[in-house]
Amino acid sequence: MKLNEHGLLVIISGPSGVGKGTVRKALFEMEGHDLVYSISMTTREPREGEIDGIDYFFVSVEEFEKRIKEGKFLEYAKFVGNYYGTPSDKIDEQLEKGKEVVLEIEVQGANQVREKAKDGVFIFIAPPNKEALYRRLLRRGTENPKSIQNRMDKADREFPLAHQYDYIVVNDEVTNAADRIMAIIRAEHAKTERSIYKYKEMLEVK
Ligand code: 5GP
Repeated sequence: MKLNEHGLLVIISGPSGVGKGTVRKALFEMEGHDLVYSISMTTREPREGEIDGIDYFFVSVEEFEKRIKEGKFLEYAKFVGNYYGTPSDKIDEQLEKGKEVVLEIEVQGANQVREKAKDGVFIFIAPPNKEALYRRLLRRGTENPKSIQNRMDKADREFPLAHQYDYIVVNDEVTNAADRIMAIIRAEHAKTERSIYKYKEMLEVK
């Protein structure tokens, strides 16, 4: 995947319950951006209020596994018993149009994307502390105690992975976290290796 002349592939990842989804929504509510959200596919049951084709594409295990065989995912992972994956169609098309394509995925999937898209922008969302994570999972009210425990155990294993990311954004306040991500996107566009080709002629030493 060649991103230089295009939009950025932005990967927002981190432990479950850290508020990735809320931060991502706040990011999309900000003005003056050219972001496109990559809607994931999952085999998990829809939660109350979730809409097929907006929050996720909800499919059966058979359908998901068929798509794996057909190579239709940029990445996919099994997370606490369900499949989640990023459909690869449309991503390149959107990037070529200059859109920033935002993935909000868990860490195994982010590792796969890192292998395929070296110049993606990898952002790890971290909780201010572990208690905050536990409280958020509890407050969300969508998980049973076993699922909360599974997600906390998983988070313990995932925190050290933050080292592999380009940026760490602490989700102390949702709007602050979204602001920081927007600042990162702007700064990434100005990075020399991404923007120099536009000015090459002008900057060429005679
Ligand atoms: P939830 O069940 O809470 O909606 O999502 C569980 C986890 O799966 C979250 O960490 C979420 O970010 C992640 N996730 C959502 N979509 C994808 C995807 O397409 N690929 C991967 N690898 N993880 C995803």
